[in-house]
Amino acid sequence: MQAQTTDVNGQAVHQQVEDVKLYINSEFVDAESGIAFENLNPFTNRVNNYVAEGRGEDVDKAVAAAKEAFEQGLWGKMKVAQRMEYINRIADLIDEEIEEIAILESLDTGLPISQTRNMVARAAENFRFYARMVQVKLHGESYPVDDEFINYTMYKPLGVVGLITPWNAPFMLETWKVAPALATGNTVILKPGELSPLTANKLAEIINKADLPKGVFNVIHGFGETAGARLVEHPDVKAISFTGETTTGSIIIKNSAETLKKTSMELGGKSPLIVFDDADLDRALDAAVWGIFSFNGERCTSNARVFVHKNIKDQFVEALKERVANIKIGDPMDMSTELGPLIGKEHFNKVKSYIELAKEEGCEVVQGVVPEELKAGNFVPPTLLLNAKNNMRVCQEEIFGPVMAVIEFETEEEVIAAANDVKYGLAGFVWTNDMKRGHRVAHAVEAGMLWINAQNVRDLRIPFGGTKASGIGREGGHYAIFEFYTEPKVIHVALGDHHIPQFGKVKK
Ligand code: NAD
Repeated sequence: MQAQTTDVNGQAVHQQVEDVKLYINSEFVDAESGIAFENLNPFTNRVNNYVAEGRGEDVDKAVAAAKEAFEQGLWGKMKVAQRMEYINRIADLIDEEIEEIAILESLDTGLPISQTRNMVARAAENFRFYARMVQVKLHGESYPVDDEFINYTMYKPLGVVGLITPWNAPFMLETWKVAPALATGNTVILKPGELSPLTANKLAEIINKADLPKGVFNVIHGFGETAGARLVEHPDVKAISFTGETTTGSIIIKNSAETLKKTSMELGGKSPLIVFDDADLDRALDAAVWGIFSFNGERCTSNARVFVHKNIKDQFVEALKERVANIKIGDPMDMSTELGPLIGKEHFNKVKSYIELAKEEGCEVVQGVVPEELKAGNFVPPTLLLNAKNNMRVCQEEIFGPVMAVIEFETEEEVIAAANDVKYGLAGFVWTNDMKRGHRVAHAVEAGMLWINAQNVRDLRIPFGGTKASGIGREGGHYAIFEFYTEPKVIHVALGDHHIPQFGKVKK
């Protein structure tokens, strides 16, 4: 797909892009029904393009192709080094097209181009990382039993796996799953978020160019209740890796029970950021502002709840107000834009309704201003909910927008209890220069990932995921390859004449 997205001066602009098809058995095809749906640009609310709407019958075709590729094809059987050549080739092709992919991502999601460029670079690294990881780490163990046995394990791919992804940060999240799934020898059906299909299609084009064997990688665009649901219930799909809302995750777990599928759940969050009065306040401020207002606030690990110690609250809130007034709201294609429009009108209305609710619940709402000329887009300005209390709905429910609730606290015990008094447990951030306290609080906060004196800085080697309603299982690092995309198999080998019970043997 070629996006005509720059003008004669090389400035990025908003233009329609080519329509998107399904990618099944290494071919770009229309949906069986012939139906396509509109894909809107969040900045203009005009049509970006039309997208083939995959449904059950298209999923069935893709699964049949992926099954054939797994069972009859070369993918799982080829030498690991050769499979990794394909994986590294995908990374190289992504690198060649970084600018094009970043532009498509910003057109589709409204995420600022300065941020999508970084995400795309991470996507190429996802492939290289898993190429290295599988070659070096994916080996079994052996268990000698005296001189009688040697039992050894090996890790086998599962078969056809379904990857269901959301619309926030699509390319990065998709490659984060596709890379380990393919590197370990599985064949894949990707069902991307219906609101952000452009870069998933680009990934199909790249993988097509990398010339992977037929049927190894497939993309079904379409809606969750039809395309996604069929993938989940399909008997030939062995596992579903899902990233999305908590409520969708529980529906998927229910629907996958019939076929006893393995599932991995990366779900929502309402993460706390705690600032003690001895913290480096300038750095804590930078991190708190970036953590909720980057990615337009549509980030699963965003610090939606900021707990500030009583002694520094007034000072910290004044600094927050200044930042919020100065955040550059603008065209996602403009390199200087810090905050772009939300993904779609429905989500925009949801975020706005939470801001109204905050007022009803007693918060003072402080916001930046959306310039008049941007009114066509789904812009919600950076928003502070001041004087918030942790038990308010706006502090308990995931808003998933540029909205930070600020909550005052006095003691360590009190803030730990409040941070944990929420159904989610994805991430947490602690700011203090007392490192004993930093560790203590990080140990006590119920979350899968904690940062002390840092924003969300990713390390691809760590287990990524959440606890409570934020997820089940971990992907990332070697966790993805050992715990999700492969299965251990044990081979027991007798080395000598060990004892075998002799049932029914007649003694002579
Ligand atoms: P969503 O749950 O609405 O949709 C996610 C995907 O699931 C989409 O592809 C959708 O089509 C599909 N889907 C919907 N219903 C389905 C069904 N019944 N069966 C199968 N598939 C179905 O989520 P969203 O609104 O696209 O994404 C935002 C959410 O994702 C937020 O809650 C955010 O916190 C979460 N998220 C979590 C992480 C993480 O790593 N924990 C990362 C990014 C986003």
